[in-house]
Amino acid sequence: MLLKDKVAIITGGGSGFGRATSLLFAKEGAKVAVVDYVEEAAKMVANEIKSMGAEAIYVKADVSSEEDVMRFVDVTVKAFGKLDIIFNNAGIYVPGNAEQQKVEDWDRILNVNLKGVFLGCKYAIPHMKQNGGGAIINTASAAALIGFPEAIAYAASKGGVVSLTRAVALDYAKFGIRANCICPGTSETAITKDVLADPQLRAMFLAPIPLGRFGQPEDVANAALFLASDLSAYITGAVLPVDGGWTMA
Ligand code: NAD
Repeated sequence: MLLKDKVAIITGGGSGFGRATSLLFAKEGAKVAVVDYVEEAAKMVANEIKSMGAEAIYVKADVSSEEDVMRFVDVTVKAFGKLDIIFNNAGIYVPGNAEQQKVEDWDRILNVNLKGVFLGCKYAIPHMKQNGGGAIINTASAAALIGFPEAIAYAASKGGVVSLTRAVALDYAKFGIRANCICPGTSETAITKDVLADPQLRAMFLAPIPLGRFGQPEDVANAALFLASDLSAYITGAVLPVDGGWTMA
């Protein structure tokens, strides 16, 4: 077991990458706090984990709310006694170029995708310092690595996650805290369901992927497990594409 007795928070844990990672971390011995603003989804994942004989709690929370983030970190530490890992993964996507993107959508996307990651780090780090170290994993996107069309706020938010991750990695290495981010390519989750349901768009998104398939939630969960575990003990500040080769130079 790669995460035996570790305590992990996973945001966006009710669906997609977060759900797959919650289940995998639990299978590898972690106690998991499943955080999502869709309460029913978080509860279902926590129940799935408990039915495997592992420990989990769920917390309904909005990662863009400072109060909510403070609460889910606090609830997790009260339930399990410490915090070793946070996977800041919750995110939203609203398309639009500079003219089309509504200012309120810009604010919401930046608040969830970037401020949410900042808040997760801000309130997890003191517990990790107390614990002598920890692992932070943030979900960025292939949209942070290449020019990404028609989603200006999303691309900006994910570029921010890459820079934030490097800053945290530098600032907290001396405390034994590692911070890395994952850049998924086009993957089959709820966020892409509508786009990939259109045969023409599906073919267009598949064409540039060298490995010839879309990503699956388990592809990201496996990368998150590596970055959360001691297998990556000498890796911090890394930006790991999980994209079938889409963004390789
Ligand atoms: P998903 O929609 O299946 O899962 C996202 C989860 O986050 C949902 O359960 C949702 O309820 C939750 N969430 C959204 N906003 C929240 C908030 N403010 N507070 C708490 N929970 C919130 O999608 P996914 O593909 O698993 O997305 C996970 C992450 O991966 C996101 O950050 C997304 O931007 C990123 N990503 C996805 C893809 C892809 O192709 N699927 C590619 C690159 C990056």
